[in-house]
Amino acid sequence: MSTVPELFGSMVFSDSVMREKLPKDVYKELKKTIKTGARLNTEVANAVATAMKDWAIEKGATHFTHWFQPMTGITAEKHDSFLSPVGDGKVIMEFSGKALIQGEPDASSFPSGGLRATFEARGYTAWDPTSPAFVKEETLCIPTAFCSYGGEVLDKKTPLLRSMQVLSEQAVRILRLFGNTAAQTVSTTVGPEQEYFLVDQELFDQRPDLLLTGRTLFGAKPPKGQELEDHYFGVIKTRVKAFMAELDEELWKLGILSKTEHNEVAPAQHEIAPIFSTTNVSCDQNQLTMEILKKVAARHGLACLLHEKPFAGVNGSGKHNNWSMATDLGENLLEPGQSPQENFQFLIFLSAVIKAVDVYADLLRVSSATAGNDHRLGANEAPPAIVSVFLGSQLTEVLEAFASGERYVDPGQVMLDTSVQVLPPLPKDNTDRNRTSPFAFTGNKFEFRAMGSAQSISCTNMVLNTAVAEILGAFASRLETAKDFGEEVLKIITETYKQHSRIVFNGNSYSEEWPIEAERRGLHNYRTTPETLPHYLDEANVALLSKHGVLTEKEIESRTEVLLENYIKVLGIEAQTMLSMAKTDILPAAVAYSETLTRTALDKKALSPAISTVYEESLAAQISATTECLYANLSALEQALIESRGIECPEAAAKFIGEKVVEKMNLLRENADTLETIVATEYWPYPTYSDLLFRV
Ligand code: ADP
Ligand code: MG
Repeated sequence: MSTVPELFGSMVFSDSVMREKLPKDVYKELKKTIKTGARLNTEVANAVATAMKDWAIEKGATHFTHWFQPMTGITAEKHDSFLSPVGDGKVIMEFSGKALIQGEPDASSFPSGGLRATFEARGYTAWDPTSPAFVKEETLCIPTAFCSYGGEVLDKKTPLLRSMQVLSEQAVRILRLFGNTAAQTVSTTVGPEQEYFLVDQELFDQRPDLLLTGRTLFGAKPPKGQELEDHYFGVIKTRVKAFMAELDEELWKLGILSKTEHNEVAPAQHEIAPIFSTTNVSCDQNQLTMEILKKVAARHGLACLLHEKPFAGVNGSGKHNNWSMATDLGENLLEPGQSPQENFQFLIFLSAVIKAVDVYADLLRVSSATAGNDHRLGANEAPPAIVSVFLGSQLTEVLEAFASGERYVDPGQVMLDTSVQVLPPLPKDNTDRNRTSPFAFTGNKFEFRAMGSAQSISCTNMVLNTAVAEILGAFASRLETAKDFGEEVLKIITETYKQHSRIVFNGNSYSEEWPIEAERRGLHNYRTTPETLPHYLDEANVALLSKHGVLTEKEIESRTEVLLENYIKVLGIEAQTMLSMAKTDILPAAVAYSETLTRTALDKKALSPAISTVYEESLAAQISATTECLYANLSALEQALIESRGIECPEAAAKFIGEKVVEKMNLLRENADTLETIVATEYWPYPTYSDLLFRV
């Protein structure tokens, strides 16, 4: 058994491995590329490739793949072996610099949103040397970006990398103004908290809806849900503990800093959080984490559900994107320190984030809009679809004081008195927790909580980085030309808060009053994906992303189309699955049970007309009435689906589906769920919510 430090990163071609395996000058050249983005020459690339291959073979690899993140939101890989014939029926294991740096997958089957016709199959993958290569299941995986023959971006990675660079440039300008000459770059850091469900694999296999759509499309409310609040942070079951232990081991091998695991609010729901890293690495690692969650679960006879809403009536799963900015020397730029009221550099960065979120709230909302996440945002379990910022009382008071021209009085370190003598007094945090805010300041970072559990974190962070960079750039321009630097700093902080305090909301975002108050403040509340996505193309949003070279207008159009189409397809598959389950399993079960009841009634009457058959008859009547309704709603759903297919414009089709198809799906579900509560268990074709949620 290896120790954790031995295990950690053992499958990663990390910096220390590179230093050990590469000739000194090659290592130096590569580091230069990583730091400055300079091109690698062929010789150096060949040397890196050979070292990488030898190392990977030591780790059991026989194949390599460019590993990329197309717009499907999941990862893609195509394995090639290192094998190369040398005549005489012999082979050697070979890997060239060219194969490392550039790949050419036949890319016609990835979504491009109209950027590429299917006959134009050529796509390129290009090595991203800032994210380390790793070995996974006998394959050397090389993180890459993915673009078309014409150079248009076809992946989620490239715009993210661009946005990081943009933010770095603008943040460094601000640092220089505050006299920091040491820091060379600023990167954004992210720690994504990942929620998921575990259910028994055998039960999972009996549900076509889980298998095909990742969520239950039918299922009556169980007698027990999450109301006892006994699952959150509860004792972890032995089987789950064994799963988590193996999960950690697999993640550690890949250099993923898996740190925290606990039970979540809903039964069978859990969370895993890593220690934060640079955003692109964190993005790669979160994709890997989602993949490994599923694989390790399968080894334990479990199925891991990453869907945002696997069960109606029970909390769904989100992903919390903890985000901050840090210099290459490790200074966290969102660390307020002991007295934030005097920490002007911090206040400038904070103001930039507040303004960015207010001005580009719609883009953040776009980044969290998916069919799955529609079930959460707007329901009282996840932050609402309204984007707002939680600052906590202390920072709000500091900014209020600036805005009103008053002096902020520091209350000093407040100690928490537990009134228990053996416990030491605890220093009280300067902000309380607010779990209802979509964008909350949590001490030295912001936490964007509106993301769905199955989503890639790339889009959200691309938006955050670019929006904050834009505002920082504008601040820097003002400060660089200001007559009095100190005065201008004060002016920016004061002005920004006055103009953008509408986005700050420290109250309960789940309350009924908040949407009304938000509307008064002019904040948008886009409840569904079809309502949200078209705003990707709003003028200000296109201007932001194209100005900084993160995405061109054409690329944003294509992304919007891919997202809309995804929504249409997901709902189409869900509706079809419902229809098939209702027709071939649910209706037959109801009819069979009803027949039993009727036959029993007849048998009884045959025995003696005096025997009562009220129970059998009334239940059979109830089943019959419900199946009639169900059949009518089933036909209505079929009709709505057919109608939706006739709508050509994706935006209009998505809107129609979001309203009409979803409405029919809900009605159909209601009938089926009623049947589940009256049809005898042995007749019911599927495991129930109680089985799924409590039998792990
Ligand atoms: P909290 O209890 O406030 O949620 P945790 O320490 O549990 O804080 O952290 C939650 C997540 O936030 C973890 O993934 C953690 O690594 C991440 N995180 C902490 N500091 C930062 C930071 N400066 N930048 C990005 N993420 C961070
Ligand atoms: Mg948290």
